[in-house]
Amino acid sequence: MRAVEQVAEAAVAITFDVPDDWSAEFLEFTAGQHVTLSATIDGERVRQSYSITWSPERAQREQALRIGVALVPGGRMSTWLNTQVAPGDVIDVLAPMGEFTYTPAPETERLHVAVAGGSGITPVLSIITTALAAEPTSRFTVLYGTRSRAAAMFDAELSAMAEQYTPRLRIIPVHSQEASEDVLLGRIEPDLLDALIEGIAPVADVDDWWLCGPEGLVDAVTGWLQRHRVPAQRVHHEVFHTVHHSA
Ligand SMILES: Cc1cc2nc3c(=O)[nH]c(=O)nc-3n(C[C@H](O)[C@H](O)[C@H](O)COP(=O)(O)OP(=O)(O)OC[C@H]3O[C@@H](n4cnc5c(N)ncnc54)[C@H](O)[C@@H]3O)c2cc1C
Repeated sequence: MRAVEQVAEAAVAITFDVPDDWSAEFLEFTAGQHVTLSATIDGERVRQSYSITWSPERAQREQALRIGVALVPGGRMSTWLNTQVAPGDVIDVLAPMGEFTYTPAPETERLHVAVAGGSGITPVLSIITTALAAEPTSRFTVLYGTRSRAAAMFDAELSAMAEQYTPRLRIIPVHSQEASEDVLLGRIEPDLLDALIEGIAPVADVDDWWLCGPEGLVDAVTGWLQRHRVPAQRVHHEVFHTVHHSA
């Protein structure tokens, strides 16, 4: 492990060095994919998935992979990664996988909209970086729902990217628990989406939708897109956490 950095009040970014022999297996991934970490924590073997935040190009340049881990209260792997690991530690990591992927389409001019909730921003970061570099005239808008600014992972990095890529990249933060200047207060739900989309583009003009976060958010946005008759092939989604309801 190369580095552990705080990227929100309760989240860290962890960078893993990839040995030369493993470059093909670990660094030739597709933007949006995740790795699986495996560790023995308090005597129990735990495995969890974490999305890669860098573009494949950046990972290859750095010969490393970076993930972002939000601390889930009571969660085994996320608490361990947020409080116990340090540079120099060795962790078992399985090669990248996953279907929530962006494949570069260099000759096209597309309008992308991502809707991310909480740690759902992590694969979106990789996808934004890859798409803006691969498609020089495409635009990307990201609706990013968190509790507050302090809870927003990679907030500073996203602001710097929005500045770098103005006017092609726009980040619209939505905070559920903290009112602040210029930031919408609320949850990313159909009513809010109806209001926000007016300032982005007609729904039919959006070429690709990227939805990532907890099940409730992904379901709400998917339902809203279906009501707007958006073809399923334009909608890419990944659920990070399913809420199990007891009968
Ligand atoms: C494809 C995929 C990619 C993922 N990528 C990331 C990522 O990039 N960054 C990231 O931080 N997480 C990511 N996750 C979630 C991650 O894999 C773990 O589920 C999360 O870190 C919690 O693991 P834990 O061992 O700490 O919690 P556990 O010990 O498994 O769970 C403890 C309690 O927390 C609840 N819980 C579990 N997961 C969550 C959650 N995500 N949110 C709220 N409550 C939860 C459980 O229901 C349980 O009650 C991803 C999940 C998937 C399926």
